[in-house]
Amino acid sequence: MTAVSENIPVVDLKSINDTHREAINSAIQRVIDSGWFILGKEVTRFEENFARFSGNQYCSSVANGTDALEIALRALDIKPGDEVLSVSHTAVATISAIERVGAIPVFVDIEPKTRGMDPVKLEKSISSKTKCIIPVHIYGQPCEIEEICNIAKKHGIPVIEDCAQSHGAMFKDKIVGTFGEIAAYSFYPTKNLGALGDGGAITTNSKELFDKASLLKQYGWRERYISEIVGLNTRLDEIQAAILSEKLPFLKEENSTRLKIAQKFINSIKSDKIKTPYLFKDRTHVMHLFVVEAEDREDFRSYMHSKGVQTALHYPAPVHTQPAYLNRIKAPQGMQETEKLYKHLVSLPMFPTLTSDQIEKVSNVLKGYN
Ligand SMILES: *Cc1c(COP(=O)(O)O)cnc(C)c1O
Repeated sequence: MTAVSENIPVVDLKSINDTHREAINSAIQRVIDSGWFILGKEVTRFEENFARFSGNQYCSSVANGTDALEIALRALDIKPGDEVLSVSHTAVATISAIERVGAIPVFVDIEPKTRGMDPVKLEKSISSKTKCIIPVHIYGQPCEIEEICNIAKKHGIPVIEDCAQSHGAMFKDKIVGTFGEIAAYSFYPTKNLGALGDGGAITTNSKELFDKASLLKQYGWRERYISEIVGLNTRLDEIQAAILSEKLPFLKEENSTRLKIAQKFINSIKSDKIKTPYLFKDRTHVMHLFVVEAEDREDFRSYMHSKGVQTALHYPAPVHTQPAYLNRIKAPQGMQETEKLYKHLVSLPMFPTLTSDQIEKVSNVLKGYN
């Protein structure tokens, strides 16, 4: 051993996909040999399997998670000028999808434990123009989805759950994505279920919404070349579907490995200058990202980097502070918690194929910070 130690990355996609190497290679070959690349039996098989996993009856796959949100909004008939309540502490995709259907995003502040939508501020933000609510299960932590859906129901407003970071997370004994009318998923390579390219899906228990989504994703076709409604083109391809079908059976186990690693990291953090992710007794966090809050972020990050542990920021700036959105999106209840939080967030290494040596090293480095 030399004094120069290996740098531990925040995510290592090569090592994750290496564990599925044979299966991925033969899946790709299978599709090539079939000579069928768009909307064939691999997509159908994956949609059936993913519907089962998601706890909803129906799944319609699309090209990416942003499109899944857009298709969900269109299936719910959200129109230009309608207001959609969501959060600023999210991937910009959530807000991008809202504006792509011509709707107006309105921000609701977060609550600190889940780092997701604050239900109390949500109810105060609802107006006669509110036509949809999109909460996000950020980092793999279920948000206050039960309360959010109760409020939504009381006001007759549909909910789209943004599950792009929360495949398989549980709220009490119910999987997230089954609380609202529709759930939107992403299979971007870094997500807990990741393709080797882009991918996404919506899941729902409504036959009507599923049918509408299925038309929307391919030019509004029910019958080939005949557009019944105005649609777009957003399809998961056969190769990605085949790869995802191979990886899906391992998702539950990979999620629980992530959580075990996170628990070890949490136990290693001794400093009261670091706040760890909140673990609810009755919910299952799937640790898409392991994000702590550091009192002095610069100090903590440079310490970690000096010890060979990489860190990242998810996200360096909440949506409402980014140039494209600055000063033009309403937040009727303010953004105090969102603004307080983001300056302290630090993402640490988190992926299911972290080796025991890597886990040990990160733990020891964390123990040394105070
Ligand atoms: C990744 C992500 C999306 C969008 O997914 P893409 O597949 O990249 O379009 C949407 N919402 C959240 C919270 C995400 O993390």
